Amino acid sequence: MNSPSEDVKWMLLALKLSRRAAALGEVPVGSVLVGPQGLIAQGFNQRETLNSPLAHAEAITLHRAAKKLQSWRLTNTTLYVTLEPCLMCAGALLQARVGRVVYGASDHKGGAVESLYHTFEDKRLNHQISVTSGVLSEECSKVLQGFFQDQRRLNRQLEQQKNYRRRTSVVVVFKNKILGFHASDPLSKKKYFFIPGGKIEPGETPEQAVIRETFEETGYKINLIPNQSLQRKYSFEWNGHVNHCDTTFFVGHLDEDWRKPSLVNDAAYHQGVDWIPLNKIDSTFDYHPDILWGVRWGVKRSAKRK
Ligand SMILES: [Zn+2]
Repeated sequence: MNSPSEDVKWMLLALKLSRRAAALGEVPVGSVLVGPQGLIAQGFNQRETLNSPLAHAEAITLHRAAKKLQSWRLTNTTLYVTLEPCLMCAGALLQARVGRVVYGASDHKGGAVESLYHTFEDKRLNHQISVTSGVLSEECSKVLQGFFQDQRRLNRQLEQQKNYRRRTSVVVVFKNKILGFHASDPLSKKKYFFIPGGKIEPGETPEQAVIRETFEETGYKINLIPNQSLQRKYSFEWNGHVNHCDTTFFVGHLDEDWRKPSLVNDAAYHQGVDWIPLNKIDSTFDYHPDILWGVRWGVKRSAKRK
């Protein structure tokens, strides 16, 4: 067994490796495997880089060590890791017959050594591993906490940088059919069925905007059911750009007698006004979960009105 000062020395190396993981956007966990001869192998979490659920620091370290020693048996070795091993890694450490595990921070959500399970003490298994925990635990936790704080900050910044476009859409139902128009993406040529709606122009209320847009896009005059609206923020790819939409959905009804759809001279992507049966809305609007959500909501509200 290594002395306490040896433990600190190797844990410092594992910590250094964990920071390398953080620099790559990986959850910062680092580990080293040490034998009587000294350092055998080292590794850090590369789950994102390698797109692998197996690429935890310990698993990578064990894999490298076994390759180097030309043996899967890693007896008489000590594995140092900055975070308490998970079930998978605890299993791998048992498989490798590692003699001792030293870890820094406890993992109350997934630790399989002392927090959630006591895998290494289980006498039903044919191998047990001795454990030392809490070595440089504060430093190890700090690296992890700092990483998650940075990630949250980054996510908030990204959210603030999104330029949301205020727009409206309306669900208009007549005799179990919903009003909209066929459209095709100018770039990808992907086919869509859009419910009427669009950008709110300066000086317009959302209500005015959606009534105007419906007339421009479908030729129908509509009225809105008062006090019924739903707001959703989502992103939609169109013409090669991701548009961040802040959309208010309304429920409308025809403000004129029923007539067949007329030819509309709107944008080039506009491929004709149509009424789609309500039993087809799931398959028609399945191209976007938030739009489908808005349509379902509108249809429900519209049914309640009658
Ligand atoms: Zn693991």
